Amino acid sequence: MNVCVIGAGTMGHGIAQVSAMGGHDVTLRDIEDGLVADGLAAIEANLDGGVERGKVSEDEREATLARLDGTTDLAEAVADAGLVVEAVPEDEELKKQVLSDVSDHAPADAVLATNTSSLPVTSIASALDEPSRCVGLHFFNPPHIMQLVEVVLAEQTSVETREFAESFVDGVGRTAVVVEDAPGFATSRLGVALGVEAVRMVESGVASPRDIDAAMELGYNHPMGPLELGDVVGLDVRLDILEHLREELGERFRPPSLLRKKVRAGKLGKKTGEGFYVWEDGEIVGVSGENDA
Ligand code: NAD
Repeated sequence: MNVCVIGAGTMGHGIAQVSAMGGHDVTLRDIEDGLVADGLAAIEANLDGGVERGKVSEDEREATLARLDGTTDLAEAVADAGLVVEAVPEDEELKKQVLSDVSDHAPADAVLATNTSSLPVTSIASALDEPSRCVGLHFFNPPHIMQLVEVVLAEQTSVETREFAESFVDGVGRTAVVVEDAPGFATSRLGVALGVEAVRMVESGVASPRDIDAAMELGYNHPMGPLELGDVVGLDVRLDILEHLREELGERFRPPSLLRKKVRAGKLGKKTGEGFYVWEDGEIVGVSGENDA
């Protein structure tokens, strides 16, 4: 099948790689030649890393690269596509515009998927003349490593589109979970619920960040505790998701004032060097506030 991925950024190039590794012919489309080239180069670097670690064979690397192509021409990119996945920035109007333009040029039976991590797929689908062929395919970062894909069903998604999406995910060696188009889908809602409770526990002095994280890592086998994960994702990103979930689902998602204070102070986690932990060169070197008098 021909797959077209729109947007060659963090997620788009990874989705293109996963699709090509799954045997599909893939066209990666972005708005500038340099961005397309960067996306293709990132895929090549991922594959080289895979070969070095013995996860990808030389033959698989070559075959994957041979199945990949890039362009800035939208009409050409989607002309023969059986599936189009958009991975442009998280902006509802932009996504609607992109998918509506896609539907003008793609075959009438192509499935049109969005990789949105938080927007209502039902609203995005409403921009299409045939919304029944729209579905959410929510890959995780980085797509070539992460096993999960949430298949998000819009109100309008047809049974055929749902089955197509599940079978595509399975065919590219990933595991699908099917979720209704509810705020935070399955992952963000549960992940954020745990993270926000951990922040409240720090706020009320139940335990230190290190002990809360150790409790979940050692007691529940989580690969990373909820506070460290919040630092890695970015506390500003977490706050935005919480605000959205509070609006949609109610006060149980009210952001704790400690989280707001951290964000106001620019303590956003790993990317700024401090959140609940202090970070240097991508590693935790201390706990925020630990040495304060
Ligand atoms: P990104 O900014 O890295 O990449 C977006 C790309 O889209 C850019 O290269 C940009 O030039 C391109 N673009 C913008 N307008 C375009 C257009 N009209 N046509 C073609 N390309 C266009 O963003 P990202 O992090 O890859 O996120 C993309 C989507 O994936 C968002 O909806 C985001 O919420 C979702 N998502 C992100 C993550 C993550 O961890 N980054 C995880 C899951 C889902």
